[in-house]
Amino acid sequence: MTAELTAPREFRLTTRPLPRPAPGELLVRVAACGICGSDLHNYLEGGIGGAPAVYPMVLGHEPCGRVAGCGQGVTGWAPGDRVAVEPAVYCYHCEFCRAGRHNICANLRFMSQPGDPGFFREYVTAPAASLFPLPPTLSPAEGSLFEPLAVVLHSLELAALRPGEDVAISGAGPIGLLTTALLRLAGAGRIWVSEPVRERRELALRLGADAAVDPRAEDPVRAILCETKGRGADAAIDCASQDDTLN
Ligand SMILES: [Zn+2]
Ligand SMILES: [Zn+2]
Repeated sequence: MTAELTAPREFRLTTRPLPRPAPGELLVRVAACGICGSDLHNYLEGGIGGAPAVYPMVLGHEPCGRVAGCGQGVTGWAPGDRVAVEPAVYCYHCEFCRAGRHNICANLRFMSQPGDPGFFREYVTAPAASLFPLPPTLSPAEGSLFEPLAVVLHSLELAALRPGEDVAISGAGPIGLLTTALLRLAGAGRIWVSEPVRERRELALRLGADAAVDPRAEDPVRAILCETKGRGADAAIDCASQDDTLN
């Protein structure tokens, strides 16, 4: 079963032949797939950031599932193994891949963009290098957090915070909440979260934020400056990407 986006706000369920893994690939049965903000833009608006959807289009790039078959030459995997699947497919031979920076691969493909079906479907094939083993203790829903978690780990590497430093986070969607939880684990000092949705503010507090501000009720910058007697935070991490969260 495949869920194809055929128009804004319109999915069609279709049955496709079972894909066969090519040499070096595996067949994965998808158990769960998160819904990214980019999926919502494509669903609600028919595109994202000036890139229009091309119909029919299979969205979804936060998957986990189980190995259902191995292509020729694949070793180390067995049917039933729990896996997370990386949606980006790299060439591993361009200048950037060879320098270990395959996230900016010159020949990058991203499963869930036009022409490269994503994971809102039952069976997918993917290169063996795109699979990561998951422990059996993780539920499929938890396993589907691996892709946004990787996004957050990468951003925290770039932020290069030191233990005890204070951080302001804009937005408490999945990315903002994972950022909050990881910063708390990493030994951050004070963590402020700015988020207009009450349930998300409550979750942010449960996951380690010290304060959660409703930006519609008070100016978060002023609140932080006031609390720190004008010092402010050591770092600000934007997890909302709204016009008024960047300055
Ligand atoms: Zn995403
Ligand atoms: Zn490459």
